[in-house]
Amino acid sequence: VTDVAPTDVDPEVDPELVWSDIRLALAIERLGFPVVAQAVGLARTTARDQRQPTTPDGIVTAALRLLPAPATGLRQVVNATGALLHTNLGRAPLSQAARDALQQAAGLVDLEIDLSTGSTGVRGRSAMAALAAAVPDAQAAHVVNNNAAAILLAATTLAQDREIVISRGEMIEIGEGFRLPVMLTSTGARLREIGTTNRTSLADYATAIGSDTAFILRVHPTNFAVTGFTSSVPVAELATLDVPVVVNLGSGLLAPDPVLPDEPDVASALRDGAALVTTSADKLIGGPQAGLLFGRADVVARLRRHPVARALRPDKLTLAALEATLRDPDTPTRKALYADATRLRERAEQIADTLREKSVDATAVPTMSALGGGAPRVLSSYALSLPPGYLAHLLQGSPTIVGRVEAGRCLLDLRTVPPQVDDIIVASVLAIAGHR
Ligand SMILES: *Cc1c(COP(=O)(O)O)cnc(C)c1O
Repeated sequence: VTDVAPTDVDPEVDPELVWSDIRLALAIERLGFPVVAQAVGLARTTARDQRQPTTPDGIVTAALRLLPAPATGLRQVVNATGALLHTNLGRAPLSQAARDALQQAAGLVDLEIDLSTGSTGVRGRSAMAALAAAVPDAQAAHVVNNNAAAILLAATTLAQDREIVISRGEMIEIGEGFRLPVMLTSTGARLREIGTTNRTSLADYATAIGSDTAFILRVHPTNFAVTGFTSSVPVAELATLDVPVVVNLGSGLLAPDPVLPDEPDVASALRDGAALVTTSADKLIGGPQAGLLFGRADVVARLRRHPVARALRPDKLTLAALEATLRDPDTPTRKALYADATRLRERAEQIADTLREKSVDATAVPTMSALGGGAPRVLSSYALSLPPGYLAHLLQGSPTIVGRVEAGRCLLDLRTVPPQVDDIIVASVLAIAGHR
């Protein structure tokens, strides 16, 4: 195009207008600043050389076309559901330290070599050391692919052709039809069901155990609550019986946390006498998908030696991200858990005010957040409330913003949204409302 009048050409488009475009911020998040800056520079010089009319929007659009396509079909999403650990969204978002560790482990690393001798060494030595430091009450620890694998390994190793004693109140389904009792019996273990849905006593356990008992299994229900006329037996009392106690904690606090007074933790279960405790690494620990086993040295050694252990072992990326998470536990999950409700209200009101100025029907409303999808809502929070039609549009946006509909309104719960994403929410809602 050569017949453009010189007045149409703006060789010095205001860089500030270019860089304030939300699409570039998202591209930097995905690809890093240098790659994006290079594309913007090229877009500007191309426009200048071809003497084309340019606007900030035109520069950004041209720059985006120069960027490499995403290497995966997975789309980035903002979790505004209010469920801290949403399994459908990949559970815990990793800390910066864990992301850096992933990057480093992507190449070749001393995963399983002793550098002082050059011969085979302990696999994931430094991750194992981080686990030991995080839970000093454990004599030994082991890492597998997820918590389901941890329970599978325990049942396969300790209870094949033998009995697992379990309360009827703990025969749970976790998600997507994953039923714990079915997985346990698939290992060749037999279940000895005791007690009732709401009440199980120490005497129920004592009468059930015998020479065929491999272990007692305690399962902490994470996605439902039984209230009213209930009773269960504390681990400390079960440990007085003459069989090992295996505890599946699910969510996986490593130590007691004042924000979650009712959430059991690994250290306390071990101190109460559990032989083995299993947790997910991508729930409250806030790390990558993995299953952690802590417990007595002799029990963990048996699990490690079982042939199935090899099929359940995690890769170098998981071990690297797990170690980084354990060494610096200030994860996005922890930040969401500890977010102050007053600050969440201020953020919600500020976003709502900005949107109302542009005539969007937006308000700030109190709400409750949960630890997981479908879990009881236990944390007070604040949400941006929009007309319900926004939900589907926000799901189609880039980035995708996942909220929920409650009482006929689309709620975006800010507890699970990092504060630096507030501007993206404003920009996305305005774009849907037709302001761009
Ligand atoms: C989440 C959960 C599991 C499954 O853990 P994965 O790491 O997803 O395999 C098992 N038991 C309980 C109680 C849970 O909450």
